[in-house]
Amino acid sequence: MSTGSLTILGLGPGDPAQRTPEVEAALGAATDVIGYFPYVERVPERPGLRRHASDNRVELDRARQALELAAAGAHVAVVSGGDPGVFAMASAVFEAVEHGEPSWRLLDIRVLPGISAMFAAAAKVGAPLGHDFCAISLSDNLKPWPLIEKRLCAAAEAGFVIALYNPISRARPWQLGTAFQLLRAHLPAETPVIFAMAVTRPDEQIVIRSLQEADPSLADMRTLVLIGSAATRLIERPGKDRPFVYAPRSVAKP
Ligand code: SAH
Repeated sequence: MSTGSLTILGLGPGDPAQRTPEVEAALGAATDVIGYFPYVERVPERPGLRRHASDNRVELDRARQALELAAAGAHVAVVSGGDPGVFAMASAVFEAVEHGEPSWRLLDIRVLPGISAMFAAAAKVGAPLGHDFCAISLSDNLKPWPLIEKRLCAAAEAGFVIALYNPISRARPWQLGTAFQLLRAHLPAETPVIFAMAVTRPDEQIVIRSLQEADPSLADMRTLVLIGSAATRLIERPGKDRPFVYAPRSVAKP
């Protein structure tokens, strides 16, 4: 029986102050760090730590590599930005476990949560996720576009605030604009849309527009887009950069 371990952890949105002490301790105990290279670069080098950085589209290979190392006795940290269970590596590892070596099922595997981009972004503007909400990845690399459209329309119809991950990239330039068009058919024109770019990083930028005026060029691949609901409130603040945004705690009963 091997004594290795595999910890799948979330580095939070960027600022190390938003990394949990549990995650810091696991990084300190690791012999190997594996992940998409920008995340691996966020883990400082130190003697005794091997860093394995890989490209974005090789999640399952990376998961198998991590499992093989852990099975051979290493203490492996698989790193994701934000939370590792939100559009990130934890699912890839469990997919590899389900379909891989039977012995991998007995490994010491733990998932350590992190602050997901939607929570970091929401905290910057107030409390837009204070009532019912959902999270949708706008990337059609891992699911068909018609399914994304269906979910967007259903979520808007149902009154959910929507956190959009992976809103846009060079390889996926049109999806966000199409999503705004669709949502305009289901939501009032004045519904607030928050573009939260590079939250907690030095180049953080937060912009709020109405759905009518929402422009996809305000987002990049490091942006979390929050679409409000008809219930979302803005509190204007004279002389300040932007209003507070919040979701009231209650919805009137019929
Ligand atoms: N596991 C991550 C999400 C990975 S998907 C999490 O829980 O946050 C990658 C997407 O997350 C990006 O396209 C962007 O939409 C969002 N994201 C990650 N970090 C962000 C940050 N610091 N600011 C804004 N959005 C971020």
